[in-house]
Amino acid sequence: MRYFITGGAGFVGSHLAEELLEKGHHVTVLDDLSTGSIENIEHLKPHPKFRYHIDTVANVPLTAEFIDGADIVYHLAAAVGVKLIVESPVRTIETNIRLTEVVLEQAAKKKRPVFVASTSEVYGKSTQFPFREDGDLVMGPTNKGRWSYACSKAIDEFLAIAYYREKKLPTVVGRLFNTVGPRQTGMYGMVVPNFVIQGLQGKPITVFGDGTQSRCFTHVKDVVRALAGVMETDKTLGEVYNFGNDHEITITDLAKKVRDMTGGKSEIVYIPYDKAYEVGFEDMHRRVPCIDKVTAAIGWRPTRNLDQILNDVIDFYRPRVGV
Ligand code: UDP
Repeated sequence: MRYFITGGAGFVGSHLAEELLEKGHHVTVLDDLSTGSIENIEHLKPHPKFRYHIDTVANVPLTAEFIDGADIVYHLAAAVGVKLIVESPVRTIETNIRLTEVVLEQAAKKKRPVFVASTSEVYGKSTQFPFREDGDLVMGPTNKGRWSYACSKAIDEFLAIAYYREKKLPTVVGRLFNTVGPRQTGMYGMVVPNFVIQGLQGKPITVFGDGTQSRCFTHVKDVVRALAGVMETDKTLGEVYNFGNDHEITITDLAKKVRDMTGGKSEIVYIPYDKAYEVGFEDMHRRVPCIDKVTAAIGWRPTRNLDQILNDVIDFYRPRVGV
C-alpha cells in the first residue's frame, strides 16, 4: 500500500512512517518542519520505499498530488503543545482548521481514506471519567487561549465525520492521549521530555501547579500500532477512537520517578500556572481514557508501561544533553 503522512517529520508522524515501512508499505511524508524536524526522519531517508517533501499542506496542488498518489492518508500536521498554543493562538487555530479542510477536500475528490489525528484535549474540563468517545466535551471560555486548541481539533473532528456522512469519504478520527517516547521535544511544553532533560542535567524539575493533576502516558510505539490498525479495516470508518493508557500518575509522582531514574540529584520545584503559562491558565485536573472501543474494534491495547516509556526517553536524551 502507498501511505501519505502530513506532519510525517513530527514526533508521532516519524514513528508512524517507521511502523508502516516496517510493514512493507510505501510512505510519503509532507512536513513544513514548523514543529517537526528533519532529524526525526534522517534514518528513514535511505529506505527505498520512503519519500519526503518539505513544504506546507497549505500548498494545495502539492498536497493534492500526494493524496492522488496514495491509497491511504494520515493527517497529522497540526500545531501541538500547550506552550505553543498559549503563545501562538492564531497559528494554532489557523493551522489546525485550514490544513484539515485542505486534506479532506482533496481526499474527497479522489475518495482516499483519511485518518485525522485529534487529541484528548477535546474532553476539556469533563469529569465523566474515564473519558469515552461518546461523552460530552466541556470547553472553557474563548478568552483562555488553551481552549482554542481543543476547539480547533473538535472542528477537525466534526469536519471528518461530516465528510464521511455527507460526502461518503472514508474517515477515522483518533484522539491521542499524552503520547510520549523518543524524539518528542520539550520545546512546546510537554512534561516528560522536560522532566527527563532537567533530571539528566541535575537541574530542578519544574512541576506546574500543585502537582496533584494526573495524566496517563502512552508509548508512541504503541500509539502508532493503533494508528496503523484502525486504517486496516472498514469497521472503523466514520468513527472516533481514544488511543491511550489507563495507568494514571500525578505530576508530582512523575517528577519523583523521573528524578530517581535520572540520578536522583534534581530538586522538585513548584511553579504556579500563571507563571508557567499565562494569567488565568486552566489545567485539566485528570485525564483518563476508556479504550474499550478501540480494543473491541482492532484488539489494540498498549503494551509498554511507564518505566519502559521513561527508560526509552532517558536513553534518547542522555547522549543529547551530554551527560
Ligand atoms: N507540566 C509540568 N511541568 C512541565 C510541563 C508540564 O508540571 O515542565 C504539567 C502540565 O501543567 C500538565 C501536565 O504536566 O498538568 C502535562 O502537560 P503536557 O503539556 O505534557 O500535556 P497536557 O496533558 O497538558 O496536554
